[in-house]
Amino acid sequence: MIGFSSRVEAVSISGIREVFEAAGEDAINLGLGQPDFPTPDHAREAAVEAIQSGQVDAYTSNKGTLELREAIADKHARDNGLDVDPADIIATSGGSEALHIALEAHVDAGQEVIFPDPGFVSYDALTHLAGGTPEPVGLREDLTMAPEAVEDAITDDTAAFVVNSPANPTGAVQSTEDMREFARIADEHDVLCISDEVYEHQVFEGEHRSPAAFDDSGNVVVVNACSKAYSMTGWRLGWVTGATERVERMLRVHQYAQACASAPAQYAAEAALSGPQDAVAEMREAFRERRDILLDGFEEMGLECPTPKGAFYAMPKVPEGWVDEVIGRGVVVVPGDAFGANGAGYARISYATDTETLREAIDIMAEATAALE
Ligand code: PLP
Repeated sequence: MIGFSSRVEAVSISGIREVFEAAGEDAINLGLGQPDFPTPDHAREAAVEAIQSGQVDAYTSNKGTLELREAIADKHARDNGLDVDPADIIATSGGSEALHIALEAHVDAGQEVIFPDPGFVSYDALTHLAGGTPEPVGLREDLTMAPEAVEDAITDDTAAFVVNSPANPTGAVQSTEDMREFARIADEHDVLCISDEVYEHQVFEGEHRSPAAFDDSGNVVVVNACSKAYSMTGWRLGWVTGATERVERMLRVHQYAQACASAPAQYAAEAALSGPQDAVAEMREAFRERRDILLDGFEEMGLECPTPKGAFYAMPKVPEGWVDEVIGRGVVVVPGDAFGANGAGYARISYATDTETLREAIDIMAEATAALE
């Protein structure tokens, strides 16, 4: 057999899957990174209509349909106060592909990419696949990423840094001041800031600001998706936007690797983004309620947990053996070190599950915690 590329050999299959497989079939799964709500009806119906009328039988424009990109541009104006030209948007196969093409287009072999540790698993893997060198940076006590830590990690070889707010796996939300600083750092050091905003609608305290709102240099690209905002993880529809020249380079990767995002998903996404937004607020309120239930539970267990201000994850500090003890009792949680070396001693708990199941899981976690004392 011929050998494999060193880029792909540097990457392994995510440890998160192994955790699911280790748990029994009846386990309560607090390991999942997806909302437990249905996709809004109007989005589903738009896809059905597009399929039945034959609109999805052919490739769309490589960047996605103009109507979808207009809906995305309107969303950026409405939610982020950004003036984005639909020509500077590429619809992608989820936020995952958006991250991939952003890194492929900007990172040269051996160049460094800075990202939060613990952080979303794809940042490390996609950096390797782009031929780059991962530079994980530790977080503050509240699990946000300090702009100073990013600035200190920048070298002559740095191509990019990734900001993720609200964050997976921590639920941390960066302040507006941090976002302003990230835009300044991208400008002053002439490095790319990739802002991963897929959880932007799940903010419980404060507000989500994009570093793109403070960008004067064209060094910020924004990655987003319908996946978490509209419970559309299975549809695979995201996008990336940035300065015209950057979009043109990312399109080269997208065009040859993907051609275009799935057409039915594009119609569903257009409807989700431009239709009623009630589902977004309903999900946010449900997540906030569950977060509070979970935090109360941790407090009673005596586990320290920085208050997650967004997304649908919490990351408590846990005693040694806790994750195995909890999984052994039938609740799937993810060990923090699946998200980077600094995640050791933490666990990621996803609260994208109904309150009754969550309470049941909390009781089991409490038993496991007591058993270790
Ligand atoms: N960015 C973060 C921080 C995520 O947690 C995820 C998915 O879990 C993604 C991007 C990718 O999202 P998508 O499902 O749209 O590819």
